[in-house]
Amino acid sequence: MVPNDLAAHWMPFTNNRAFKAHPRMLVAADGMFYTSHSGASILDGTAGLWCSNAGHNRQPITDAIRRQAAELDFAPGFQLGHPMAFSMASAVSAMLPTEMNRVFFSNSGSEAVDTALKIALAFHRARGDGQRTRLIGRERGYHGTNFGGMSVGGIVNNRRTFGPLLPGVDHLPHTLNISEAAFSRGQPEWGAHLADDLERLIGLHGADTIAAVIVEPLAGSTGVLVPPRGYLERLREITRTHGILLIFDEVITGFGRLGAPTAAHFFGITPDLITLAKGITNATVPMGAVGVSDHVHDTVMQTAPDGIELFHGYTYSGHPLACAAGLATLELYRSEQLFEQAAALAPYFESAVHRLADARHVIDIRNLGLVAGIELAPRPGEPGKRAMEVFHHCFDNGVLIRVTGDIIALSPPLIIDHAQIDRIVEQIGSSLGVVR
Ligand code: PLP
Repeated sequence: MVPNDLAAHWMPFTNNRAFKAHPRMLVAADGMFYTSHSGASILDGTAGLWCSNAGHNRQPITDAIRRQAAELDFAPGFQLGHPMAFSMASAVSAMLPTEMNRVFFSNSGSEAVDTALKIALAFHRARGDGQRTRLIGRERGYHGTNFGGMSVGGIVNNRRTFGPLLPGVDHLPHTLNISEAAFSRGQPEWGAHLADDLERLIGLHGADTIAAVIVEPLAGSTGVLVPPRGYLERLREITRTHGILLIFDEVITGFGRLGAPTAAHFFGITPDLITLAKGITNATVPMGAVGVSDHVHDTVMQTAPDGIELFHGYTYSGHPLACAAGLATLELYRSEQLFEQAAALAPYFESAVHRLADARHVIDIRNLGLVAGIELAPRPGEPGKRAMEVFHHCFDNGVLIRVTGDIIALSPPLIIDHAQIDRIVEQIGSSLGVVR
């Protein structure tokens, strides 16, 4: 189906004028491939938007959605429940670190982030520490587009149009330093000390004003920023010492992207809250979630007066279709051992992407698990143009990559094979040879 009028749809995060002048549509998907509106097969190097981790059109998931729609299409989730929401919460909590046995559902990563920030505030208030309202994010962090996530996020273009945002927010420095750590394979050796900036912010604001620190353990959207060795450990230590909650935004890393259920497992660091979305339903039905540590949950529950304990929720929290899709997805991850498969593929993927080190325009390559970032020198006076041209050239030659600024990001479905990894890398190499 090709729509004959493109005007009405104001597309998200899109150069609408450029797209509508030269539309590139996706009309079907199966396994590792999309089909474009002209019938071309497009190899998916990005799992959609970091989300179709088990590949596309997976039958156990689509069957589960179909069955659920026919049985219970919707049920109110306020003061009522439906069984699938409880099953899904248990299944999600079983995928999280052992101290994290509570799950609050949202419909997107942005909502999961705002939910986590609100839970952090509720936790401190419940402890009689209601003056702890300050939230610390990080430069180049992406936590979605709602006001909370935008405020703790650190992307200038996402922030500057929208006024003063949340008050009482501060930011850590980001961890990317190409002059110190270019072409690192896996975690860079350089940069753990950047976590010590949190001590500076604590000195500046007072620990007793700070509710939470939120970071992506591996920052994806701003171009794959891999945490330096020791950095996350240090953040955990400082937050714990000062009674500050640590939130890992795992919207990209949960589940399986690093070859472990979560980045928390991969790095062996347990935060107090984890935000999830994308991979938990294999992106088939929108769903977000917050994994909440027992101590955070119990504090809020035990101190709440009789009645509703947390005044927060969404009409579609725990939507039956999302739960059905999620349960089938988590079972598929387990039965096909996709996280183990991703872990086994990671070294091959790493070697393959680093073959581009000598390609034209490339100034850095970084990777972890099944994620890679390939940074290009910007064309003078035209930041972002070069990578966008690579994106178009790859697409027109049958490979889907993602670009952010002048950085190419790869995050293929975990079912990718060696030949498909090679195909993506070779296509990027030849596209780099073509663009100016
Ligand atoms: N947090 C992180 C780390 C993300 O990468 C994203 C989306 O890419 C979000 C939050 C926002 O998720 P959504 O687009 O589902 O609102």
